[in-house]
Amino acid sequence: MTETVAFAVWAAGLVAWFAIRWPYQRRARKITVVRDDRSLGDRTVLAVASFSLSIIPLAYVVTGIPAWADYPFRPWMAWAGTIAMLCFLLLFHASHRQLGKNWSVTLEIRDSHRLVTDGLYRYVRHPMYSSFWLWAIAQALLIPNFVAGLAGLVGVGLLYFYRVGHEEAMMRETFGEAYDAYAARTGRVIPRIL
Ligand code: SAH
Repeated sequence: MTETVAFAVWAAGLVAWFAIRWPYQRRARKITVVRDDRSLGDRTVLAVASFSLSIIPLAYVVTGIPAWADYPFRPWMAWAGTIAMLCFLLLFHASHRQLGKNWSVTLEIRDSHRLVTDGLYRYVRHPMYSSFWLWAIAQALLIPNFVAGLAGLVGVGLLYFYRVGHEEAMMRETFGEAYDAYAARTGRVIPRIL
């Protein structure tokens, strides 16, 4: 494993993320939204997370800036990052498939919204956010630069901690006791633990 291969793995992850998301994004446009909880705060953290997982590392890979934040490349870290990236893509794909027509990029309830509690959602309430944490960890392991590598963890952290409480409040108001019961038997991002 060389640094160039590690960068290629990171870039391939970004392309695969886009390829998986694209059909769901297109389909979602056609499904009526019945409740819209998007706020300026949510849009801001979403934009920051997207930037920190794509533009910041891309700019680093292309220009090498900021070079002062570089640290030595270690092949074992890049291998671990490759495994984390593969796990991210598998989990991201599966959660998109299982959430199906109920998915939104922001906080929204759609026409005929169903509370999904099977598949991965049997174990955790936010498998897609678990996958984003894995993506951020993969970036940190693949890019040996304190700014570009760690940016993803900061962005995902902001998105996750800002959103998860609002999302659960919206789900609780929509699905009532069914959501309370569901929340009581599941973890947020790690089964049984967190
Ligand atoms: N937090 C989930 C979903 C992310 S997409 C995850 O990490 O897998 C965000 C949208 O998904 C929210 O706006 C909400 O409408 C919807 N959603 C979240 N959990 C859901 C569930 N268990 N069943 C159906 N829709 C859900």
